Amino acid sequence: MDCIFCGIANKSVPTQLVHEDERVVAFRDLNPQAPTHLLIIPKAHYASIQDVPPEDLGIVGELVAVAQDLARERGIWPSGYRLVVNTGPQGGQTVGHLHVHLLAGRQMMWPPG
Ligand code: AMP
Repeated sequence: MDCIFCGIANKSVPTQLVHEDERVVAFRDLNPQAPTHLLIIPKAHYASIQDVPPEDLGIVGELVAVAQDLARERGIWPSGYRLVVNTGPQGGQTVGHLHVHLLAGRQMMWPPG
């Protein structure tokens, strides 16, 4: 399987990780949409959040826990941040490996468009 985020997770694609644990890595988005724009991904390949089986939904909580830690460490809490999980074509997903965007450092607008 040719998945760029699997490559980042298994270190065959060189990237500066901002977080790594047994099941999760985080790194900077290549095309940042905010002063802080990180991607938090499971090492396991799930094509989207829709593809996470019920028995592994705990991974979603682990991604959120890493977002909380990064927000604390980087002082972007309590100012605030946005977590985004684009899912499928109409959801705006372009990379087919589950990822949570953590965006911060500017005022976020709503609706997102
Ligand atoms: P999405 O549109 O939600 O699928 O987001 C995919 C994100 O991955 C985009 O924000 C891209 O800028 C980002 N991206 C794609 N390839 C890389 C890469 N090699 N390293 C870091 N970010 C990437």
